[in-house]
Amino acid sequence: MQLKQALTEAVARLTANNVPSPRMNAELLLMFTLDCDRAYLYAHPERDLTADETSRYQSALAERLRGVPAQYITGHQEFWGMDLIVTPAVLIPRPETEHVIETVLELADEEKRAEQECPPNILRIVDVGTGSGCIALALAGELPQAEIHAIDVSTKALELARVNAVRHQLEGRIRFHEADLLTGFEENSFDFIVSNPPYVGESEEDEVQLEVRKFEPRSAVFAGPTGLEIIARLIPQASTALRPGGWLVMEISGTIVEGAKQLLKGWEELRIIDDLQEIPRVIAARKISPGMPSYRGTAAG
Ligand code: GLN
Repeated sequence: MQLKQALTEAVARLTANNVPSPRMNAELLLMFTLDCDRAYLYAHPERDLTADETSRYQSALAERLRGVPAQYITGHQEFWGMDLIVTPAVLIPRPETEHVIETVLELADEEKRAEQECPPNILRIVDVGTGSGCIALALAGELPQAEIHAIDVSTKALELARVNAVRHQLEGRIRFHEADLLTGFEENSFDFIVSNPPYVGESEEDEVQLEVRKFEPRSAVFAGPTGLEIIARLIPQASTALRPGGWLVMEISGTIVEGAKQLLKGWEELRIIDDLQEIPRVIAARKISPGMPSYRGTAAG
């Protein structure tokens, strides 16, 4: 069968099965099968597929048709300009999560400007529930002076995050820890605690896409009945593990924004950042620092 015909048939099958973006999926899986880029597909429509290529393309399509996300079939997802390996052990990095990175970079920059007269300090940042490592890697790449930690409760996720760090020559920059949220971390350890925690409520399950519901790790998506259960544990732990004046930055959703605000009562400078669809996507708050405006200085004695 010719490449062009294989693609046309694939688009038709994906469309008939209501798979979103059928052409994109058909092309992506053919690029994966032939290990080529999109330009090659357009340049060689008449190229004959070998029997082996045809059969591998058909099995990739069959997986996609039963709902497996394309990223778990190809094993790749781009995030913050980096190609990351993904497996069903981790949540697939989402474009919205890049707002978490932007927020941390902006806050880190504000801190730097506010503290120009102080001796430079090394920022200590931790990514809680790192999964594929996307947040930790992006921050390690952007903040070459910072000390970056990445925590996950899943051994498999941590292994994959390490693989991704090695692929991007960042393994020397990130310390990996297997832990349940911040359990076991000392007081006043971090300047930034960053997380894309599970925050979907089991009560919202019907509204969650089949791909997410059935194929992404439940423990990375669902927090419990309301969606607030994990951040309700994380916030008090963060309040201990942060230095006074340190920032907690978390990904959230429109469903939990009000609940998250309640849980952050007593924190300072609360900020909420919307995503491109104008859904509240990031919440940031500063740990109270009594009488100590320059939180990393020693002015308060
Ligand atoms: N944003 C994800 C979704 O669309 C959920 C990820 C999370 O809970 N952190 O389902």
